Amino acid sequence: MQFKEVIGQHEAKNKLRGMVQSGKVPHAMMLLGPEGNGNLGMALSLAQYIQCENRTDEDSCGTCSSCQKNQKFIHPDVYFTYPVVSRKSGEPPISTDYITEWRSALADNFYMNANDWLQNIGAENRQGNITVRECHEVIKRMGLKTYESTYKIQIIWLAEYLKEAGNTLLKIIEEPTENTIFILVVENIDMVLNTVISRTQIIKINAIDDADVQQALSERYDMDAEAAKRIARISDGNFNAAMTWASGEENANDRLLHRWLLSCYNLKLKPSSGNTATLNEWVEEAAKMGRENQKIFLKYALFFFRECTMIGLTGQSQKLDGEELKFATGLSKRLGVEQFETLNKLINLVHYHIERNANPKILLMSTSFKIASVFKGEEVEVA
Ligand SMILES: [Zn+2]
Repeated sequence: MQFKEVIGQHEAKNKLRGMVQSGKVPHAMMLLGPEGNGNLGMALSLAQYIQCENRTDEDSCGTCSSCQKNQKFIHPDVYFTYPVVSRKSGEPPISTDYITEWRSALADNFYMNANDWLQNIGAENRQGNITVRECHEVIKRMGLKTYESTYKIQIIWLAEYLKEAGNTLLKIIEEPTENTIFILVVENIDMVLNTVISRTQIIKINAIDDADVQQALSERYDMDAEAAKRIARISDGNFNAAMTWASGEENANDRLLHRWLLSCYNLKLKPSSGNTATLNEWVEEAAKMGRENQKIFLKYALFFFRECTMIGLTGQSQKLDGEELKFATGLSKRLGVEQFETLNKLINLVHYHIERNANPKILLMSTSFKIASVFKGEEVEVA
């Protein structure tokens, strides 16, 4: 991967390129930053940049034999460790059990989060792990000679999942074999052993700037500036979340529902600031639609949440396609079956009161705050 494929992060890219150019790459570093910020993409770009035979000040060349292999994630001197679950009972799993899935996941979306990945490999309710057995694999291969490049690079994605197994790696991280570079990618440093942290050089990578998210959305989704700006603002520099919202930008009922959920999600993030403005606007608009249209819209919402639940349970929907399916899939990764059930109850209740001539503005507004609570993971009373 090349740095130019990673959205924004200009300062961090400069820092990493500078380290390579001055020959001062630490033998163990931790790229630390929040979910969806492109941390993993930065690690991949850095590995490719280090090994490129023809790099420029800005980026790897993308065409040399080393770059070609790195771009397919098959370079023999770049190793990946990431959380996995057992395929079957017996030996504890190691990362290479899932190397095919890993490569295609990276090609598909390197902004993925742990849950995206673990669902992708069929973890369902199981917790992912980086096992002691995997740590021994790391130690073993770091003792090998390099095949093609000067450096062996070991990327550990979400080193939080090492937990106590991290102790197994302390010695090799502290005194690595020659020409070895460890790149740990971490979202939550509190979950990493202090003994591991103290042996790495921490490089902070912030959430992506809103302006960079907005630009990327406009380019990749052909989205108008206003919509891109709105989504960028609520995504909090998390491009994985931004993609979920972006894929729901359509017209009619699905567009209306998408905007509603977006406004509610917005309340979840910043409840006290001026974020009720988009919600007020939405409520005004929905209140004017008239009762029959409101009922159709609510039926659509029920249908949509049912499909989200199906996706959550079975991984697929028979009825959705295109952007609608993408949005539902994204949402089903954020909310669980119980939460969709609560949403269904809330919508049914709105439908009930709309039929009985309740004031739609008051009703939709109070329901919106309840939906925001569902996004927050709070218990919501439906009555
Ligand atoms: Zn190259």
